Amino acid sequence: MQQPATSIVILTGAGISAESGLPTFRDKDGLWEGHRVEDVACPEAFARDPERVQRFYNLRRAALATVEPNAAHHALARLQQAWPGRVTLVTQNVDDLHERAGSTGVIHMHGELRKVRCGHCGQRMEWLDELHTSTLCPVCGRGRGLRPDIVWFGEMPLQLEVIEDAVEASGLFVAIGTSGQVYPAAGLVQVARSAGAATLEINTAQTAVSGCFDSHRVGPASVEVRRWVAGLLDR
Ligand code: NAD
Repeated sequence: MQQPATSIVILTGAGISAESGLPTFRDKDGLWEGHRVEDVACPEAFARDPERVQRFYNLRRAALATVEPNAAHHALARLQQAWPGRVTLVTQNVDDLHERAGSTGVIHMHGELRKVRCGHCGQRMEWLDELHTSTLCPVCGRGRGLRPDIVWFGEMPLQLEVIEDAVEASGLFVAIGTSGQVYPAAGLVQVARSAGAATLEINTAQTAVSGCFDSHRVGPASVEVRRWVAGLLDR
């Protein structure tokens, strides 16, 4: 009897979008677009200076309109469409390049730039424009409640249980373009190993968790992801 196809879980990080023109942050002394993470990406920063944080994310949101998915995003969408087994795509990225390449069911564990949520009524909604402290929530009508739907440092990632279940049920776990420094995402390779899955890391450099992976492809995602997917689908 034929074996069912391996279930694959793929975790992507800022490195997969670097060649599209969206800077990573750990490659440049811990700065993200010239900002210290603790000034723009934590709840304390938002409480201290909400307009500064909104401005930072307004710029990131606007930058999405100037970039396109690259060959790595497209290769993963092709894998999702053509692989006979399940392919779960989990990303730490807040951009929408996987979706624009054609991927479906993407789990954004750290939130999405093109969504906001209201601290008063809890509603999440798509948001393509600028957001300001004075912007009223279109659902509950109250002010000073809307914030980017981003998981900041110190906050709980989204859908963690769903992600861990998928990793535990997978036969192959692949991490692409992530530095392995942000937990719990960085610990998923250990979850995969404990469940007996094979593990592959694709990155231009060694990472904090490289030693946990069984195999490695070293090089730019646009080249290495395309080669890896071609190897799986065209053999
Ligand atoms: P990171 O910035 O910590 O690390 C980036 C990793 O990508 C590094 O290991 C680097 O060696 C690798 N890399 C760089 N260029 C690459 C390429 N062309 N091909 C393959 N690998 C490459 O990123 P992270 O681990 O994702 O953690 C950063 C956090 O910052 C995330 O949680 C995310 O929410 C946020 N962030 C998101 C974006 C985005 O959405 N595009 C951009 C910057 C930061």
